[in-house]
Amino acid sequence: MSEKNEQTEKKSEAALLKEKLAAKKPSGKLELDKEVIAKADEFCEGYKAFMKTSKVEREAVRTTKKIAEEHGFVEYEQGKSYNPGDKIYVINRGKNIGLAVIGKNGTKNGVKLVIAHIDSPRLDLKPNPLYEANDLALFKTHYYGGIKKYQWTAIPLALHGRIVRLDGEAVDVCVGEDEGDPCFVVSDLLPHLAREQASKPLSKAIEGESLNVLIGSRPFNNDKESEQVKLNILNILFEKYGIIESDFLSAELDLVPAFAPRDIGFDRSLIGAYGHDDKVCAYPGVMAAVNADTPESTFITFLCDKEEIGSDGNTGMQSTFLNSFIEDLAEADGVAFRHVMAKSKCLSADVNAAFDPNYASAFEANNASYLNGGVIITKYTGAGGKYDTSDASAEYMGIIRKMLEDNGVLWQTGELGKVDGGGGGTIAKYVANYNVDVVDLGVPVLSMHAPFEVVAKVDVYMTYLAFAAFLKL
Ligand code: MN
Ligand code: MN
Repeated sequence: MSEKNEQTEKKSEAALLKEKLAAKKPSGKLELDKEVIAKADEFCEGYKAFMKTSKVEREAVRTTKKIAEEHGFVEYEQGKSYNPGDKIYVINRGKNIGLAVIGKNGTKNGVKLVIAHIDSPRLDLKPNPLYEANDLALFKTHYYGGIKKYQWTAIPLALHGRIVRLDGEAVDVCVGEDEGDPCFVVSDLLPHLAREQASKPLSKAIEGESLNVLIGSRPFNNDKESEQVKLNILNILFEKYGIIESDFLSAELDLVPAFAPRDIGFDRSLIGAYGHDDKVCAYPGVMAAVNADTPESTFITFLCDKEEIGSDGNTGMQSTFLNSFIEDLAEADGVAFRHVMAKSKCLSADVNAAFDPNYASAFEANNASYLNGGVIITKYTGAGGKYDTSDASAEYMGIIRKMLEDNGVLWQTGELGKVDGGGGGTIAKYVANYNVDVVDLGVPVLSMHAPFEVVAKVDVYMTYLAFAAFLKL
C-alpha cells in the first residue's frame, strides 16, 4: 500500500493526466502473466485437435456433436419442455449445429447468441468434374469463397465431402489427411516459361478455369479404347466407394489444403492452419457452451454454413433454421418470438485481419487489430462508406466493452483495413435484422483466406474467455 503511494507521488503531472485520460494501445492491453499464457497454450491443444477433424462444415458438425455429447448434451426434441440447466443440441442438414444451455429465466429476457461459421474458402468439384487431358486425369473445380487463386497451386490438397449414389446411399469421402493417403495438386507453370503469366495482374495470372486438380496418370490397360487414365480412376472409385461417374452429380466434394495445424515460431506462440476463419471462433464458442454453468438467460452457440458465399441457402444465416429453434423455445416459455429477439444479445463470432508488417500500407495502424492484442471487437465491417454492415450501437459497444474489462479479458478494437482498401462482411447484419443487439467479436488472423492462416494462441483463449463472460452477462 505505502509502496504504491510513493510510486504515485513520483509521477509527473503529465504522466498522471495521461494515465487518467489517454487510451492505452492496443486498447485494454493487459500484462499477461505466465499462468494465463500456459492456460492459452493448453486451450489451443484442444483447438488443434478440433481442427484436425473439422476441415469442412459436415466434419465440424460431427466433431462438435461428439464434444457436446461427451459433456452431457442431448438432441433437442420438438414439443418437449426443458428445464434450467438442460443442455441440448440441434442439427440442420448435417451442416449447422446449435448448442443450447437452458437458462434460469429461459427465453423470457431474451437469449444470448454466439454465432460462428464453419465453412472456409476452398475448391469445390464441379458437377461433372472428371476428365482426361494428355494422358492425365483431372477434376474441374469451382472455387468457394474469396480466394487468391495463385495460393491454391502447387500445394497438397485433400478431398472431403459426401456422394449420394443413385441407390440413395450416402458415402463420405476423406482422402489426403492420413500420412499414408495420396493427395492431390493443382499444377503451376514453371518460372522459366512464365514470362507472359508473370506480366499479368495477380487476379489474372491464374484463371478460375485453370484450377484443375491432378488426380492420376496411369491407364487402365493398353487396349485402343480412349480415356484409359480416366477409366482407371473410375475403376478405383468404384472399387473404393461403389460410385459411377454420374454419381458426381449428387455430391458435395471439396478440395482443402492437406495441412495439419502446426505451431509457428520458436516460441510456439502462434498456430498455422487451414480454416481458422472461422473455426477459431467456432471452437471457443463450443467450449463456452459445454463448460457453462446454468446461465440466467438461455445461451446458444450456433455454427452456421455458407458465410463465405453470402450466407444464402438453407444452412446459411439467412435461413430461418436458428430462428425457428428459438421460436420453439419461446413458445414453450409462453413468450412471443419477436419479444425474445428484441431482448436478445448476440456476438457475431468472426475473425478480423491482424496488422501485417509485410503489408503495413493496407492497414490504418490506430484502428487495426494486432496478434496477441486479445479478442477483437469489430464495430462495423462493410465497404465504401460503411455500406452493407450492421454498425453496433454505442450502447451495445459500451455493454460489451465493460463486460470484457470487468472479466479481465485482453481485448482490442479492429477495423478491416484502411478506408476504401476493400471490405468484407459477416453474419452480424442478418441477426440484427431480427432486432437483436449484435457486434462482431473474434480472433485476429494473418493471411486470412490463405490455405495456411495464422493466429496467436493468446487471442484464441481470450475469445473463449469473452464468450464465457458473455454467458454470465
Ligand atoms: Mn469469417
Ligand atoms: Mn472469411
